[in-house]
Amino acid sequence: MSATDTVLPEARRAMEICNACRYCEGYCPVFPAMERRRVFADGDLGHLANLCHNCKGCWHACQYAPPHEFGINLPRTFAELRVETYAQHAWPGALGRLFERNGLWVSLATALSLGAVMLLSILLTGPGVLTGVHTGEGSFYAVIPYWVMVTLGSVTFGYAVLAMAMGARSYWKASGGGRVRLGDVRAALGAAATARHLGGAGEGCNDVDDRFAQGRRHYHLATMWGFLLCFAATSVATLMDHLLGWIAPYSWYSLPVVLGTVGGVGLMIGTAGLFAIKLRTDPEPDARRHFGMDYALLALLHLTALTGLALLFWRHTSAMGGLLAIHLGFVLALFLTLPYGKFVHGVYRLLALVRDAGERRAE
Ligand code: SF4
Ligand code: SF4
Repeated sequence: MSATDTVLPEARRAMEICNACRYCEGYCPVFPAMERRRVFADGDLGHLANLCHNCKGCWHACQYAPPHEFGINLPRTFAELRVETYAQHAWPGALGRLFERNGLWVSLATALSLGAVMLLSILLTGPGVLTGVHTGEGSFYAVIPYWVMVTLGSVTFGYAVLAMAMGARSYWKASGGGRVRLGDVRAALGAAATARHLGGAGEGCNDVDDRFAQGRRHYHLATMWGFLLCFAATSVATLMDHLLGWIAPYSWYSLPVVLGTVGGVGLMIGTAGLFAIKLRTDPEPDARRHFGMDYALLALLHLTALTGLALLFWRHTSAMGGLLAIHLGFVLALFLTLPYGKFVHGVYRLLALVRDAGERRAE
């Protein structure tokens, strides 16, 4: 029996009990969405699971939580179902298996990527290049040739975008999403950009135990905006290089360096904070068996930011070659694992918010 065979019936049973009880209807958007339904098809349950932001408020409030015989544990049930939706809609389908023991897969991909970039650098530019001093325009390309950087980056990132787009399409169809309206997308982006739901009614979420806190929201925002700023920095640098012929490395006050520095610091603080909360949180209302997936993405993002900042600080020293190879290894691992790790949470969560906005508009 697969995990889906047990998680879906449990989610359906829980929703039927909650729909009769309705005590938690003001807690989050899941309960109003639940109340719009009389029956819960598989796609509806996947949508509700991705609409849940794991605040754990309903767990602490529920009179039917264990040891009650109903044994309702919505945060855990939805957390497990979310991972099932990631696996179910993975593209190509066979790679959905990577969501099981995901921490191991991400670690292996990271080790292989680091090794591959180091090896390529040594084979293509010579053994002493990683420890030599390279300065001035084009110094990065003395360590990793330009065409290797462009090919590795564009192929792996292009594949990740394609795989996530195919997964999103499959998820949207399965959840019965229908036509996408601009107003619903705008509403969903507004909620995601401010992590509005993680703020609760102003008091925050039950991050660690039954006390309310804003930590998860703040660290989540730092991680998300840090990532987006780093992505913007890379995009601007690519345009400056390809369109304007301004070759890296750039000065401290250039746009890509400023964006990358602010983004990198935000990413490091956000991921460290989320990691610390995850270590301390009560695992009972959570999907303990998938914690490895969460830790893997947080660690990979943190190390990518850390090595990027280290490269910036020591780019004019003999450490530059090794740091560049290590940083590119982490970037490559990140791109390779984007469609098959916790990162897809962002895609499905956004789609769930779009669908929810559409349903609220139609009411
Ligand atoms: S989580 Fe518990 S208290 Fe809340 S609606 Fe469901 S059954 Fe009722
Ligand atoms: S854990 Fe929070 S977001 Fe999820 S269903 Fe319960 S109250 Fe809603």
